[in-house]
Amino acid sequence: MKFECIKCGICCKNLIGKIKESSLLASGEHLNAVFLAQPIDKIGLSVFDWEKEIMEEEGRKLNIQVRFLPLHFLVDKIDEKAVVLSWMLSHINCPFLKNDECLIYEKRPLICRSYPITFLEIKKSFDGFDIDIEISKECPKIVEIEFDENVYFDEFVRKYYEIYGETFKDAVLLFLVNSFVRNLIKILIEKDLIFVGRIEEINVKKMFEQKVGFVDYLEENKILGRNELKESLKNLERIAERIVKG
Ligand code: SF4
Ligand code: SF4
Repeated sequence: MKFECIKCGICCKNLIGKIKESSLLASGEHLNAVFLAQPIDKIGLSVFDWEKEIMEEEGRKLNIQVRFLPLHFLVDKIDEKAVVLSWMLSHINCPFLKNDECLIYEKRPLICRSYPITFLEIKKSFDGFDIDIEISKECPKIVEIEFDENVYFDEFVRKYYEIYGETFKDAVLLFLVNSFVRNLIKILIEKDLIFVGRIEEINVKKMFEQKVGFVDYLEENKILGRNELKESLKNLERIAERIVKG
């Protein structure tokens, strides 16, 4: 049996409070540089900074008002301004859902493209790779896949791709993008551009008065331009494709 989305729209409604922390970009513990701007139980659909820009543009074209709130952020060391890595959609139901159809289907964010896979992590282990995967039980069409403990990485990937197809590829891509963003954060830390430590030590209100999006910040600091970012994301898409197709 294959997973087939019946476009019921369940995953596009009642978005606030149902996103689990594990499905988010990174927690503060990872780097001591990534902070959460919203209470954990009030988190909605989360998108990367560049995805927010795309959704805003699509919203303008379709005359749909889209509101976002900062979700994950870094702090610029020099100006003490918030650098927003990811945003949450500040709507209970997604404004792009009309008659249970996504109006921006081709341009929807990765979190939507990989649903109902809400978490995927691939870690190197001493004898190969370990994979953690979580599938949301809220989706009525999920297909449970059972493996024994010692399943090989290739077998795991083959089976998931066979059943979840592009959705699985997009979950792999989301994992790769998260790793890519974490690497960019490491570069910013190495260049001593961002604050690492306890959030209590900085003035949070002041920080958000002059916030900047991650994409603009990378460009401002000559780490990565917009076109290079687009190229890197396309490359990650090709890698995800190679991983799932073996
Ligand atoms: S809940 Fe599942 S079946 Fe319904 S739209 Fe979302 S992915 Fe598709
Ligand atoms: S962008 Fe599309 S798929 Fe994602 S929540 Fe909105 S309507 Fe649903």
